Amino acid sequence: MCMDRPYMFLTLLVPGPKSPGRSLDVYLQPLINELKTLWDVGVETYDVAKKQNFQMKAALMWTVSDFPAYGMLSGWSTHGKLACPYCMNEIKSFRLKHGGKPCFFDCHRQFLPLDHPYRYQKDNFTKGRIERDETVIRSIGDELEEEISLLLNIEFGRTKEKERIEGFGKSHNWLKRSIFWDLPYWKTNLIRHNLDVMHIEKNVFDNVFNTVMDVKGKTKDNVKARLDLQNICNRRNLELNEVNGKHIKPKASYTLTKDERHTVLKWIKDLRLPDGYASNLGRCVNLDDYSMHGMKSHDCHVFMERLIPLAFGDLLLESVWNGLTELSQFFRALCSTVLSESDMKTLEENIVITLSPLEEVYQEPSSSNLARVVLDHELDNIDILTDVHRQEEEVNPDELHPQGMELEQEDESDELEEGFVEPNDEQLVEEESGDEDDLTFSDNSSGN
Ligand SMILES: [Zn+2]
Repeated sequence: MCMDRPYMFLTLLVPGPKSPGRSLDVYLQPLINELKTLWDVGVETYDVAKKQNFQMKAALMWTVSDFPAYGMLSGWSTHGKLACPYCMNEIKSFRLKHGGKPCFFDCHRQFLPLDHPYRYQKDNFTKGRIERDETVIRSIGDELEEEISLLLNIEFGRTKEKERIEGFGKSHNWLKRSIFWDLPYWKTNLIRHNLDVMHIEKNVFDNVFNTVMDVKGKTKDNVKARLDLQNICNRRNLELNEVNGKHIKPKASYTLTKDERHTVLKWIKDLRLPDGYASNLGRCVNLDDYSMHGMKSHDCHVFMERLIPLAFGDLLLESVWNGLTELSQFFRALCSTVLSESDMKTLEENIVITLSPLEEVYQEPSSSNLARVVLDHELDNIDILTDVHRQEEEVNPDELHPQGMELEQEDESDELEEGFVEPNDEQLVEEESGDEDDLTFSDNSSGN
């Protein structure tokens, strides 16, 4: 009910146009004060059913946001090598020598059962590496509170010199002690911050689609990726060839040829979907540069969950197509309106197994961005809460019709495009120069 429009209310507005970054806590102070009052004292409220007043108490259960906002709310920076807020400093990420970005390739095998054959494959993942470590155990509230209590107080504000807590980016990624820890019950919450499934889905879709379609400037399979590949993986057939002083990139099994791309785009252009199910995807097709432009998050949602297996059906190698289809089915199951506990268990077991062969096929370290890593954890969270159902409600296509909704979608997707997970080059430069303030800010980031 709290997500129905008549019952939603605006708690606070953060002035723009620039995101406040870690100084978000300054704006959150009035909200936290009210939440403390609601917890300790409560407010007198009228009960319509009983026709009498009562003292209503309330607690904040969690926040829902996109990935950059997650960093601002939780205090754990979502940039750099330690970006994963679940694995924290246990993550086995590294920085790509040529690509320059943090890479989360081969971080999944740790989540497989100890006797799983993938763990012992020396050639199909990082060359020569066997995974013997056990799954990362997520820190509980008490442990985190203890860790956070040791952090020095950070002075907020844009004009303040950007100080970093010692060991930042090496042993931890803490930017600040988040103001939410002022809430007396915060450490007992099993889940404190959630990621919005739509953002993850769009990011995964963009990466998969642009790589398969080999979209110039957007594919993860670029020259730098192939150079990094030589250092990390054992994939001779994908390594760059030097012919007459020029580097030639051999065609990968997971990309389509020009004719095949034309077939896919032509199919999308002529595709007719039931009214209200999705917008006209044909308008996004650009046959000049073989790409798709201006896809809204709901378009990506439909494409990821329904069209990927159909679009690439006869064109990709079976092994590649199987991996993509499983990923598509995973999202479909995750976003279904009914999700039983046993479904959750199966999904949780399967996602790591789905992601592993994908890494094997797309042996491209640069394509292993954090969105894919976060998928591993997503199910952990949903075990405890049902946020995904809410997301599903939010994007119900029927909802797109009422006036105003279309606009909201548009705004959201603009922010999505610049927004999510993988820091772009600009962000990386900033990160190194110590500026955290220009993270994309999501306006759905405040708690509800
Ligand atoms: Zn992780």
